[in-house]
Amino acid sequence: MAGPRIALGAFMLESNAHSPVATREEFAANYALAGADMQADWQSAHPRCPVTLSGFVDAMNAAGDWTPLPLLGASVGASGPVEHGYFLEVADGLESRLRAALPVDGVYLSLHGAAIGTQEVDPDGVILERVRRVVGPDVPVFATLDLHANVSENMVCESSLLVAYRTNPHVDMAERGAECARLMRECLAGARPTAAFVKLPLIPPSVTQNTKSGPYADILAFGQSRIDARVMNVSISSGFSLGDTPKNGMSVVVTTRNDAALARRLAREIAVKAWDDRHRYVPTLTSLADATAMALACGRDASRPALLFADVADNPGGGGRGNTVWILKSFVETGVQGALLGIFFDPPLAAEAHARGTGATFLARFNRDETNPLSGRFESEATVEALHEGTIIGRRGISAGHTIVLGPMALLRVGGVRVVVVSVRQQCKDTAMFEELGLDIGAARSVIVKSRGHFRAAFDLHFPDERIVEVDAPGLTTPVLSRVPFRDVPRPIYPLDPDMQWSPPA
Ligand SMILES: [Zn+2]
Repeated sequence: MAGPRIALGAFMLESNAHSPVATREEFAANYALAGADMQADWQSAHPRCPVTLSGFVDAMNAAGDWTPLPLLGASVGASGPVEHGYFLEVADGLESRLRAALPVDGVYLSLHGAAIGTQEVDPDGVILERVRRVVGPDVPVFATLDLHANVSENMVCESSLLVAYRTNPHVDMAERGAECARLMRECLAGARPTAAFVKLPLIPPSVTQNTKSGPYADILAFGQSRIDARVMNVSISSGFSLGDTPKNGMSVVVTTRNDAALARRLAREIAVKAWDDRHRYVPTLTSLADATAMALACGRDASRPALLFADVADNPGGGGRGNTVWILKSFVETGVQGALLGIFFDPPLAAEAHARGTGATFLARFNRDETNPLSGRFESEATVEALHEGTIIGRRGISAGHTIVLGPMALLRVGGVRVVVVSVRQQCKDTAMFEELGLDIGAARSVIVKSRGHFRAAFDLHFPDERIVEVDAPGLTTPVLSRVPFRDVPRPIYPLDPDMQWSPPA
């Protein structure tokens, strides 16, 4: 195939600084492919690669000839800091494969933007820097970023264009990949992207960053309203609150068609507007006791509308362990009926259920091997109602059509709660995670999901926003920032320092 030669890579990790280290094994269980294997995956019917990457590829394919040069991709939902040896393997692999692929006309990387390492403070910046060093100053280096990226100055300087998602839940990942493809073609035809960057000392709590309505929706809409023929892209990343790094905080990146002054002016204008709205980023959570009372009432009275309880403090999509027992324990011990809970990460428990078989009743010991004190332990009699090998296809929401690997799964009935137990840590982002085990979400009286917000893009069929309850329970992803043991965020920063003043640098 002729046409432009575009190198492709991926590194996606959102690092919760207080979560266990992200290892090679964890990436391997999710997505770690190189060269021809990477290409075979994105060409398959249900790829495992990041949705941004397949979106970029599909859009490039649709727009004419090109030669894709697959380098290397590694992706995991969210975890702790990446283990340094593995990070070097990824960075070295990308760099050496890129050298071998030269000459290239452009580079596209699917990045998350909120990685930290056990030794490296800005892995995303390092990857862009290494790529830039190989291709030189004139080759376009593009990257998509998660809306939760903690963007660094280095990331902006070492890339030609950064395009962040604009939806939360992230239902525009394919679109943002396609946007990069379109702008890549434009740059190959001679356009010159010029970016400006403003970092705000503002950490919006995770549950305040929805894009349907609220302060973040407003600032994103304002940013898009400033796009005209001179502006390529406006990206406003809310940031990942639990990164605990010097690069935490909301950021504005404006990329223009070679108009540096305009880029600076717009980035500043948007940043000031976002800062002026900082007081609106306030989480409203429901206590565990109140949530339990609501679930009890739903279980007792079939005429009440069913409720969805989001365990926002134990979101594997933000580095949560996916195994805190607090809601499960409270619901079981008080006798809540008709509840579903998913997905609970406990490989030994899933293995035991598989060994005992469907129909077996046994003493389920949740978290027998877990060491994080926020996870807790719970023991109760349980019955194995269904088993599954754990590779499923996303049906609706952010992973629709993509393969999701959960490892051996088991459906356990524990009192009035049916629990979906899995062996690969993932957030509950797709109804298929229940339905594959034969469960009918529409028939449940209450549903507990271990997810901060991405579940909304799939569970909206059953639960409109007004029937979603965000529960305040312990966990590594609590949106109550006063409880987070921050060490490395720059101070002052809002809302940790509520009275601080700020204006963007001149
Ligand atoms: Zn995100």
